[in-house]
Amino acid sequence: MPVKKLSAARCKSLPVICKRFRNMMKERSRLNHLPFESEVLTVRFLMAHIETNPKCQRCGVPFAIGGVKNGVQAAASPSIDRIIPSLGYTLKNVAILCWRCNNLKRDADPAELKKVADLMDASLGCIMG
Ligand SMILES: [Zn+2]
Repeated sequence: MPVKKLSAARCKSLPVICKRFRNMMKERSRLNHLPFESEVLTVRFLMAHIETNPKCQRCGVPFAIGGVKNGVQAAASPSIDRIIPSLGYTLKNVAILCWRCNNLKRDADPAELKKVADLMDASLGCIMG
């Protein structure tokens, strides 16, 4: 399936979002003594990455750029994920996920998420079956 590029209107707020991502990575790496590949994970790199891959790397939902409404982050807004949190912000350890996916994995590991998903499937089977 062809990847749809971001519209011009959505691209206008992308530099602001990418600057915020970069500042956040810099600050969190400093506070938590984590690696940060600042020469690779530039605003320009992040913008190009989102423009050419405007979907969540986990669930595939198209990103909602500028999706904050009344101070609440939209579920489809892009966010920076550390795949393995202790490895910091490196090219190989960073993914751009929708806010919802990032938030779901914040407090659970894959085994816990799978257990919950299996229980949800089983419950639906009881109701639907
Ligand atoms: Zn997602």
